[in-house]
Amino acid sequence: MSATLLDLAPKEALARLQKWTKGRGLPSYRAGQIHRRLWIAPVGSWAEATELPAPLRQELAAAFPLPRLEAQTLQQSTDGTRKYLWRLADGEAVESVLIPSGKRRTLCISSQAGCALGCVFCATGRMGFRRNLDAWEIVGQVREIVLATPDDKPTNVVFMGMGEPLLNWPAVSSALTILNDPTGLGIGARHITVSTVGIVPAMADLAKRPEQFRLAISLHATTPELRRSLMPIQKKYGMDEVLRAARAFRKRITFEYVLIAGRNDSDADADRLTKLARELGAHVNLLPLHPGGAPGLAPTPAPRIRAFAERMRNQGVEAVLRRSRGLDIDAACGQLFVEMERRKRAVAEPTP
Ligand code: SF4
Repeated sequence: MSATLLDLAPKEALARLQKWTKGRGLPSYRAGQIHRRLWIAPVGSWAEATELPAPLRQELAAAFPLPRLEAQTLQQSTDGTRKYLWRLADGEAVESVLIPSGKRRTLCISSQAGCALGCVFCATGRMGFRRNLDAWEIVGQVREIVLATPDDKPTNVVFMGMGEPLLNWPAVSSALTILNDPTGLGIGARHITVSTVGIVPAMADLAKRPEQFRLAISLHATTPELRRSLMPIQKKYGMDEVLRAARAFRKRITFEYVLIAGRNDSDADADRLTKLARELGAHVNLLPLHPGGAPGLAPTPAPRIRAFAERMRNQGVEAVLRRSRGLDIDAACGQLFVEMERRKRAVAEPTP
């Protein structure tokens, strides 16, 4: 039995509330009234739901706690990007990044505290794995933003924060339902992207869902040898197998490709990436390596990034250059956490 209604699919939460209100002899409209305070017009605590009688609010607080994420650090970049570090009840921490762009507000959310996969270019990978998030902790990253400022509600959500979402599939699957359901957060499936390094069995589970959720594959290399040197997961799920699973997905796919100077940014890499993208009808996001995110690796210089993209476009593939957002606030996944830990250690162990 789930500890909180915020972990449940909205329909399930409503059914539970209907049973609960009926058991107390309350009028039938009460369940719907309470339910809208979960996601549609959320409250931070039941005490704030002042349309409900005070004794009912007290009963709700005892029966259905509304757990919160504590915003420990909030940083705002000069380009409008906002980074949140959420402290969880057990002391772990995860990050989200809100990226405004015109009318669009994309929130990059975390699915795990830390990550076991150790991609060499990733700050989260260097933290190691701490634990999986519960569904409410995943969707809570959106809920907290709505609670603070309803107008900041994200229009798009991407699972590109800390962790590999498909290694926490049951909670991520519930989170997808809550994000998308019109009586949940009501964000269109086409505006929700799950990004994975390619956990093949869970890719098949995601493919079975009827909604048009988007899939992004973190590719980052075009040969198995190079991919193995950047992403240890290649040993378990090889590129060929991942691309086969991607082909079976039958919905729009994007390849994510971080450009690393001298490692994966040659003309030959561009040509191989073009070929793969054409075979799968995939879009390609080219991402600059976040400076400082990975010791020993350097970002590809801007002119080379442009040439790489141009070469792909000339061969008919849509390759979009993603700007590095929030450079002044360490907005790549895991970077704020790693920096906070470093500072904590520096305080605990002052240099002699
Ligand atoms: S890039 Fe993603 S999968 Fe790889 S270590 Fe970082 S969080 Fe994990």
